[in-house]
Amino acid sequence: MAKGRLLAVAGSLFVLAAAMPRAQQAPPDLILSNGKIVTVDERFTIAQAVAVRGDRIVAVGSNADIGKLAGAGTRRIDLGGRTVTPGLIDNHMHLLRGATTWAKELRFDGVESRRQAIDLIRARAKSEGPGGWVFNIGGWAHQQFADDPKPFTRDELDKIAPDNPVALQESYYQVFLNSRALKEFGIEANTPDPKDFVKGSIIRDASGNPTGVIRGDIAATRPVAARLPKVAPEQLEASSLQLVKDMNRAGLTSFGVAGCNADVLEIFQKWKAQDRLPLRVFCIGGAAAGSPDQVERSIQQIGQMKLFQGDSYIDNVLFGESVYTPLHDPMFALKSNPTPDQLAIWRRLAMAIAKAGLPLHVHAELHDTIDAFLDQIEAVNKEYSIKNLRWELAHINQINAAQLERMKKLGMYAAVHPWAVINGGIMHEGFGEAASDMPPLATIQSSGIVWGFGTDGTAANQYLPFTTLYFAVTGKMPGGMKVIRQTISREDALIAHTRKNAFLVFQEDVLGSIQPGKLADLVVLDRDYLTIPADQIKDIKPVMTMVGGRIVHDSTR
Ligand SMILES: [Zn+2]
Repeated sequence: MAKGRLLAVAGSLFVLAAAMPRAQQAPPDLILSNGKIVTVDERFTIAQAVAVRGDRIVAVGSNADIGKLAGAGTRRIDLGGRTVTPGLIDNHMHLLRGATTWAKELRFDGVESRRQAIDLIRARAKSEGPGGWVFNIGGWAHQQFADDPKPFTRDELDKIAPDNPVALQESYYQVFLNSRALKEFGIEANTPDPKDFVKGSIIRDASGNPTGVIRGDIAATRPVAARLPKVAPEQLEASSLQLVKDMNRAGLTSFGVAGCNADVLEIFQKWKAQDRLPLRVFCIGGAAAGSPDQVERSIQQIGQMKLFQGDSYIDNVLFGESVYTPLHDPMFALKSNPTPDQLAIWRRLAMAIAKAGLPLHVHAELHDTIDAFLDQIEAVNKEYSIKNLRWELAHINQINAAQLERMKKLGMYAAVHPWAVINGGIMHEGFGEAASDMPPLATIQSSGIVWGFGTDGTAANQYLPFTTLYFAVTGKMPGGMKVIRQTISREDALIAHTRKNAFLVFQEDVLGSIQPGKLADLVVLDRDYLTIPADQIKDIKPVMTMVGGRIVHDSTR
């Protein structure tokens, strides 16, 4: 890449690409022309055409300049004026965990009509047959329904799917069950709650009848998810395939993955060996301690951790997303109270992570937690500089300007996961007006910190990147409810979902923008992200998605 940078000084990008010695050796395999190529390079250059050879972009420029590179065997795609962006990167998704239930889940991501959701439930009940489960594990909330934003009731779900157990989990906030599901779980009028359910989480009416609602943050929803069917081992590959196809269809090509489940990772490794892995996975994993007696073991594991042993398809790149789980903020907690004892442990572990020279990506959501972690990191930084380790705070919906300044001074980065995309309505009920600045996107952008977008899907949030971009630009949930007041430009939002994220997962040399020398990961859109009315950004559908020069999604065929 150093050679490319030197040559770039000498002339325009177009000349550079055509003049590269490798480009002269052989014509490109593929030329995409007659488009609006939003390169997302440092100058946000817009071009007309891209040439690809093997898995790389070899030239970007005008139709005429790129056309000249074509040889007899060069395949050509006429973009017909369509907009092309780099492949979208989500810096934090629980992608591999998603595969363990994906084929069985009835997802509501992007569903903006309650009537449509009901039709989907009915259709799934029919295809499952009597007794088959109809469920989802998060990724939606009823406030996203534009036509009728209200929760589901037990009676209603009984009518829609009388012969099937139904469990619909709203983010991590609450679950709606019908009578069949309650029966399967042993939740009845005059019986004690099952032991693993959080006390008070099973909502009952005045006469003790369960209403079908299980409520109370992650801990309350967990026993429901634990009882729902998982994909059988022999079906895991098919479920994984359905998942990655859905991701490619959404325009997603790379992920920071919180917790890379070994069984799913094995399938991805197999596909990679067969040259058919259609996305890139950068694992965020580690050895968090869950209690004081686990600290020594954790420190030992941290000392032995080896990252960056993989490649641009699968690698381990970050320690995370927890350091000490008692300080892991629950999703809907209103305030945290990190104690000195807990923070002393957190600091010991963080010290070990810094000493081992590991990059860190740590869950930090609430104001007091962010302050407390920064106190510890400043202390750690005095012993072992973290400046070049790329330490990232993740989620940070309650961050403020002073905290961003502290992060910048430390040489830290921000992985922003706007839970409000689906949880904005719930957050306004809990936090009141403060929810309007969760996250404070304009403050983050104007702070100058390097930051990128993730969703924290597939349970805590929906996964569609153009829904996240729509939210960033309009402050609205799908369905149209305005939930945050600090919005940012389309350009800044797209940069945060592509080039900045490439940096956050250590792939800035090969991913994140459409430039010569980078891997050919790009998305052809059905409409122009930069000029359509902002309310339509969520409706953008990728027509074609390419990863490493291979077409992994094509809706035109
Ligand atoms: Zn988290």
